[in-house]
Amino acid sequence: MTDSMITAKFNQLPSITELLSIEPFRSIAVESGHETSLRIARRSLEEIRRRLSTGEATGEREGLKTLASRTAEGFYRSEKSARTTRVINATGVIVHTNLGRSALSDDAIEALKIASGYCNLEYDLIEGTRGKRGAGAEALLCSLTRAEAAVMVNNCAAAAFLVLRVFAQGKDVIISRGELVEIGGDFRVPDVLAESGAKLKEVGTTNRTKIADYEAAISDTTGLLMRVHPSNYRVIGFTESPTNAELATLAKENNLLFFEDAGSGAIVDLSDFGLDEPAIASSIADGVDIVAFSGDKLLGGIQAGLIVGRRDLIEAVRRHPLYRALRVDKLSYAAIEATLMSYAKGRHLEEIPTLKMLAYDAEAIRVRAEELSGKFSKDVSEGIRIEIVEGESVIGGGAGPDVKPKTWLFAVFVSGRSAEEIDAFFRSRATPVIGRISADRYLLDLRTVPENNEAELLSAIESLAVHEF
Ligand SMILES: *Cc1c(COP(=O)(O)O)cnc(C)c1O
Repeated sequence: MTDSMITAKFNQLPSITELLSIEPFRSIAVESGHETSLRIARRSLEEIRRRLSTGEATGEREGLKTLASRTAEGFYRSEKSARTTRVINATGVIVHTNLGRSALSDDAIEALKIASGYCNLEYDLIEGTRGKRGAGAEALLCSLTRAEAAVMVNNCAAAAFLVLRVFAQGKDVIISRGELVEIGGDFRVPDVLAESGAKLKEVGTTNRTKIADYEAAISDTTGLLMRVHPSNYRVIGFTESPTNAELATLAKENNLLFFEDAGSGAIVDLSDFGLDEPAIASSIADGVDIVAFSGDKLLGGIQAGLIVGRRDLIEAVRRHPLYRALRVDKLSYAAIEATLMSYAKGRHLEEIPTLKMLAYDAEAIRVRAEELSGKFSKDVSEGIRIEIVEGESVIGGGAGPDVKPKTWLFAVFVSGRSAEEIDAFFRSRATPVIGRISADRYLLDLRTVPENNEAELLSAIESLAVHEF
């Protein structure tokens, strides 16, 4: 196409003003403001210009106007779907990073509401003076982990970065080769170390690292010994690594610090559920100087990086200028505090959704699935078949990659439709339902669906019968 032909086509395009006076631009302006409508009108025209010049689109005035409207509808739908929406997690992945990791407890949700107005974030109600930010959550952390002191930052990545920056900038950090892991695609231990200004000193091999390897690597330039929980990665078979107690002793003998990035970590022993996450209190008891872990993995709270350990060290972290940049807001403190209260009262397995789902017995899930299927089987029309099948749930969030709790699932079949089409239907609901596809079957796992979401799940299944694919 020659330039003059393209220009002739472009001349047929409606103007921005014209578009803004028709649908869907008028409704978009009402719903999301004039600027949004204007931006989408510009984007649509840009897209149509591109298509005209490649020959993907043709047409005259009215046709192009309709095309602009349709293009805008697609853009707006996609933009709206990116805004925060509640979803029903029927994937069976308990700590689902893409779906917001842990669902909060009722108490934590209530605490968020309370803290959303004015609250005593940094105000001492007894003295009427400025108080200490986060003192409530930190005192609970100390009780639960038996650490001398605690401090909270934005997430565990920030916690690890800050600890390394404060105690190992310009120094060597000795770490086992088997622990130089990447977690969740964007947390790579060697990169975090480099950014903090520390120098990585790898010891041992991927599968075996001995205490003597650490010992031999210690020099005048050593800043600290670091251990990283491998989280989503497991080396099995011929493996060896020193215990925390051995590393703590070695650190002490050499006047060094020992820091553990526990990743998910666990406030209580989760071995009953097959998990070998480091219990934070054991690390402290074994003499680890500083431990960092996540607030929204198996702890079951909100995004945060919890740092516990020796008082003088925690104080040094708090005094560092970077702490100010990485600290958390009042909502995070409120939610973590309420979550920790459940542990303090020994009510964590009943009150914290993440732990409740973890402890959920497969037989109880089967009974619930049977009961639920009794409610819709009469109404689901011909061509739709729902089976209850055995399967496995997933812990998620990088914890227990080899732990797959047994579960029972709804397998949903629609004649003539693929699992992907069924998946798209469930995702397009007003409250989207997120399931998973395995071996060409669309699956819903009740393990991660709270009881108060059941009615919505039922109505989604029922509307499958009247849906036109
Ligand atoms: C998950 C994880 C992190 C990152 O934690 P965030 O809270 O997501 O920042 C860091 N280290 C380990 C070992 C982890 O498992």
